[in-house]
Amino acid sequence: MTKAVHIVGAGLVGPLMAIYLAKKGFEVRLHERRPDMRKKKISAGRSINLALTARGLQSLEEVGLRDAVMKIAIPMKGRMVHDLQGNCNLQPYGQKEHEVIYAASRGLLNMMLLDAAEAYKNVHIEFNRRCTLYSIDTGKLTFEDEKTGAQETVKADTVIAADGAWSAIRKAMLARIENFNYSQSFLEYGYKELVIPPDERGGFRIEKHALHIWPRHNYMMIALPNTEGSFTATLFYPYEGKDSFAQLKGPTELMEFFRRDFPDVVPHMPELERDFFGNPTGALVTVKCGPWHAGGKAVLIGDAAHAIVPFFAQGMNSGFEDCRVLNSLIESSSPDWEAVFAAFTKARKPNADAIADMAVENFVEMRDSVTDPKFILRKKVGFELEKRWPDRFIPRYSMVIFRPDIPYAEAQRRGALQDRILDRLCANISAPEQVNWSEAETLLKQMA
Ligand SMILES: Cc1cc2nc3c(=O)[nH]c(=O)nc-3n(C[C@H](O)[C@H](O)[C@H](O)COP(=O)(O)OP(=O)(O)OC[C@H]3O[C@@H](n4cnc5c(N)ncnc54)[C@H](O)[C@@H]3O)c2cc1C
Repeated sequence: MTKAVHIVGAGLVGPLMAIYLAKKGFEVRLHERRPDMRKKKISAGRSINLALTARGLQSLEEVGLRDAVMKIAIPMKGRMVHDLQGNCNLQPYGQKEHEVIYAASRGLLNMMLLDAAEAYKNVHIEFNRRCTLYSIDTGKLTFEDEKTGAQETVKADTVIAADGAWSAIRKAMLARIENFNYSQSFLEYGYKELVIPPDERGGFRIEKHALHIWPRHNYMMIALPNTEGSFTATLFYPYEGKDSFAQLKGPTELMEFFRRDFPDVVPHMPELERDFFGNPTGALVTVKCGPWHAGGKAVLIGDAAHAIVPFFAQGMNSGFEDCRVLNSLIESSSPDWEAVFAAFTKARKPNADAIADMAVENFVEMRDSVTDPKFILRKKVGFELEKRWPDRFIPRYSMVIFRPDIPYAEAQRRGALQDRILDRLCANISAPEQVNWSEAETLLKQMA
């Protein structure tokens, strides 16, 4: 049996990995920089709620947590698009009843995962413990106690880094591994979280079962429901330029902007000024790197391996999928970790790269295309193709969101081919009824 497996980071991904390993009988030591969020009220970090989709749910199901998580999750059937006049139009995510995504509180989800991990006798979680140093050569991990500043160094034969987008373990790999590739790219947009509180009777002020979008071409606001009746809204907005955070210097500019661009929601945001000027502006980064492992000593998972922008709602979901795949590769109680980590990297890296790129592309779709009649027509034609030839055509969005059996890279590849077919079929039409379905069938057969 392997000595203890050390997991650095008890955000969303770390505790799930701990559960998987505990089930296999491993001794797990989970180290987290922050205090225990179950005892001390702290921010759970990036974004207050998030969208959980089939890939994440599949992993939660495997560890027996799906039902518990479903109790704190709100199904969202589609995008509710708000125009400038306040008119709303629901664009369903899929055609089948089960094709919904779920809004869940990041904090509650994290706490559930911590509880579930801690329920195993072989999982030991330590909080306020920041990893400051990792030596790949000696396998030593150095921690600093966030409260006392005390340092401790432990020998760690096997390290799983789930310490997020600014991973300390990845930094150590970058410094020590000669052929380690690393890139980070920031969007020229930041994000700001705002609140739509419940109404006077504790109800939802806008449709509960939808992900709301206010697309404004170059930028957008979205809102996801919370179980207690509120919504967490997020404004994605350029840092600089004519319409940008830089221009919103005070309450007057802020209110003018919101009344102009989001007039229907202003009456629902009584604390807008306080939230806007009180909350930080977050950055949107894509991190790609590799190899993800240092021999059999350490491996990166979740955001530590692949931080992506949130426009496909796949950051956490792909991290949960990492745990499932890594677990599936561990076949014995004393595995050949180098072989496991290498196989994991080989399986996951192309998929992580694919979802990273698709997530950036999806920003344009959300902030701009959703109001474009051509985009709406293509969506309708795509759904019709899926209805007629379900074995041959599945919209790319559905492959990513609802089909964990289709890897991200395959969804990207098929999506590109399908796009070309849609280009052809939709070139000279204005309604789905005008599609030449026999041409469609021929094109789909050629694609296969
Ligand atoms: C605005 C926004 C919205 C998002 N919405 C969605 C969504 O709808 N759906 C989705 O799937 N994803 C979403 N994401 C992405 C999602 O938040 C991340 O992919 C997810 O949090 C990654 O989990 P993780 O455990 O890998 O990293 P994190 O959640 O960042 O956790 C890392 C943990 O490691 C700890 N840590 C860091 N450094 C150290 C250290 N040196 N020592 C010890 N501990 C350390 C941190 O304190 C933290 O607890 C969104 C992200 C943003 C920014």
